[in-house]
Amino acid sequence: MTTTPDVLISEVGPRDGLQSISPIMATADKQRWVAALAGCGIREIEVGSFVPAKILPQLADTAEVVAFANTLPDLEVAVLVPNLRGAQNALAAGVDKMTVPLSVSETHSLRNVRRTHAQMFDEVRGIRAAIDALPEGERPHLEGSLSTVFGCTLEGAIPEAQILTIAETLMACGCDEVGLSDTTGYADPAAVRRLVAAVRGVVGEAALTGIHLHNTRGLGLANALAAFETGLTTFDASMGGIGGCPFAPGASGNIVTEDLVFMFEAMGVSTGIDLDALLGVREILREALPDEPLYGFTPDAGLPLGFHDLRRSA
Ligand code: ZN
Repeated sequence: MTTTPDVLISEVGPRDGLQSISPIMATADKQRWVAALAGCGIREIEVGSFVPAKILPQLADTAEVVAFANTLPDLEVAVLVPNLRGAQNALAAGVDKMTVPLSVSETHSLRNVRRTHAQMFDEVRGIRAAIDALPEGERPHLEGSLSTVFGCTLEGAIPEAQILTIAETLMACGCDEVGLSDTTGYADPAAVRRLVAAVRGVVGEAALTGIHLHNTRGLGLANALAAFETGLTTFDASMGGIGGCPFAPGASGNIVTEDLVFMFEAMGVSTGIDLDALLGVREILREALPDEPLYGFTPDAGLPLGFHDLRRSA
C-alpha cells in the first residue's frame, strides 16, 4: 500500500474555485475541507493565493490556511503567487510549492497583473533569489505556469514561438519547472499533445510534468487523458468543479476532481485517493457554500456496480 501512485491530483478548489465565486468561505470551513481532502489521500492542495485582500477577499486568510495545512501529515501545501511580494509572504508562511502564473498573452498579463512579460521575468528572478536565501531543505518548489497557453480571450491564439521563448526564459529565471494552464478552456486533445511536445523540446521532459485544465467546453477529461498519454503526471482539479464559468452557464470551473479520480482509477491508473471518501467530502462544500452549484457526473451517478472488485482484480 506504500507504492507511489501513478498520478498526482493537485486539488486547486480552495484557490481557483473559491477565488471565482462571490461568497467568502469561512476560514474554519476551509480548514475542515482541506483536512478532509488530505484525509482521502490527496497529496497536494493549492490552499490559496498571496494576493492583496482588496483584490481577492475570498483568499485573504491564505496565511492562516497554510499554517493549518502545514500541520497535516504528508501534504504538499501549494499556493499561487503573482509577484515577489506574494512570494515573500508565502515563504514567511512556509509553503512547499509556489506557482507563479505568467500569461503568455501580454495583453492578458497587463490586464491581469498589470505587468509586461519583462516585468514578470524580473519578479521570477527575485522570487528565485528569495528562495535561495533560505537554507537548503527549506526551499519550496517553484513552478512557472504558462497561463492562457491554449489561447487568450483577448488575443486569441498565441504564436508557439512566443510560448517557447517564455517557457525557456522562465526556466532561465530560476523556475524548477513550467506547467501548462488552460486558463480560458480553449484546449483540445490535439493541442495538448502538440504543446506538451513543443514545450518539452525547449525545457526538457523533467521540467514539464503538470497541466491545469478547465472544463469550459466539456473537453476537460479528454484533455487530461491526452496529457496523461504524453506522460504528464500532475493534474490540477477542483472538487465539485466549483467556480463555474461566467461565459459558459452549466460548465464547471476546473475539471472535477471526483470525475478525474474516477477516470484514472477505472483505467487502473492509481491516484492514491479513496474515491468513496472523496465523494463524501462534498458534504462539507455543500454546507459551507449552500448556494454554489457543485458539478460532477460521478457524484450524481455513483460508482458502477462492482467497481471496487474490478479494481482489485486489475
Ligand atoms: Zn484556473
